[in-house]
Amino acid sequence: MKLAVIGARLDGERVGLRAVDGVIAALGPEVEPAAGDRTIDGAGMVLVPGLVNAHTHAAMTLFRGYADDLPLMEWLTKHIWPVEKRMDDEDVYWGTRLACVEMIRTGSTCFWDMYWHAHATARAVEDAGVRAVTAAPLIDDCDEAKSARACDDADRSLGRIREAGGELARPGLAPHAIYSVSERSLRWVAQRSAELEIPVQIHVSETEDEVTNAVAQFGVRPAHYLDRVGLLGPRTVLAHGCWFDRDELNLVADRGATVVTNPVANLKLAVGRVFPYADARAAGVELGLGTDGPGSNNSLDLLSDAKAFALLQKNEARDPAAVTAAETLAIATGQQSGLLGGRGLAVGVPADFLLVRADAPELSLGELDAGLVYAASGSIVDTTVVAGRVLMTGGVVAGADEVVARARERAARLGLAGG
Ligand SMILES: [Zn+2]
Repeated sequence: MKLAVIGARLDGERVGLRAVDGVIAALGPEVEPAAGDRTIDGAGMVLVPGLVNAHTHAAMTLFRGYADDLPLMEWLTKHIWPVEKRMDDEDVYWGTRLACVEMIRTGSTCFWDMYWHAHATARAVEDAGVRAVTAAPLIDDCDEAKSARACDDADRSLGRIREAGGELARPGLAPHAIYSVSERSLRWVAQRSAELEIPVQIHVSETEDEVTNAVAQFGVRPAHYLDRVGLLGPRTVLAHGCWFDRDELNLVADRGATVVTNPVANLKLAVGRVFPYADARAAGVELGLGTDGPGSNNSLDLLSDAKAFALLQKNEARDPAAVTAAETLAIATGQQSGLLGGRGLAVGVPADFLLVRADAPELSLGELDAGLVYAASGSIVDTTVVAGRVLMTGGVVAGADEVVARARERAARLGLAGG
């Protein structure tokens, strides 16, 4: 499978790009298409690395617009969890396919997912053509008696993800949070992740209550507790971290875990504190950006959230220089974390990239990075390529109409709004 892009701009010069077997094989001003290449005319476009949505619950597209504007626990216990109990593989498959269409349209080429029926997520990811780490939530209600079964279920889920996945969907483990998973299970996850060399995703330090309860129950703040159970390492993604203090951020940096901040979901759920980015950067913490699930954001447009991230941090620091557009884009493309694996555009790296419309009003003047973060949104993306395969061109994702129709059917079946 060979692809060539000609005439697009990169770092101010006109270049050609060739992708062979999913990898960038050639990139530069002299690069021309070879015989047998599918060729895309990139005139008027700029090449940009694909975005990495480093924390979401993709299939929750089905919940979008359902039971908004409620307190967190009421939303979860009265509205989300009862419906989730009734969801099946096909619901998760079509909810994820809908999310994939949105992410392809808005430039995310990879996402990190935590959701039920994770093998159905993996199947959807392979069919949609994007990359993802998919993981089923592990929850045992902090009850050690339920731990063995929850761990067995997680192990079985790994096997099913492997069967359904392939080149694009990779399995992970996802203990939900320290307030919903027992110490026994957390230690099991740490051990299993090390044995299999697979990543772990966990929600941590999202609310102040979580910190207060951790101190009362475990005698330490959440990051120290995760370290105690062996989960704070370079294979772990820590979603949120809003309430981390400096000591915790130093520990997280020391252990090499990645913190993924989800600014829009944090605002919508009113967690009350902005992720302490300045302290995290000073400590050398590896970082990523996520939308969180469409039930709590409600958008999957990571470029819009990149703007929210930058603006929040500037305001919080009372300093417009607190974070730059280039820094924000590096985080949003996974280049500030070894685990998230963003490596920019170069020969030998996976051919996951975008063509954005440089001639569109939002990008037609001024610096590209500033235009992408502050002026544009995901609608600026014209072409999305993952592993050398064209998933969208001219702003059109093949098969999107069917995906929308099927997702509506599934939402209607579940009695959700929009069905
Ligand atoms: Zn989440």
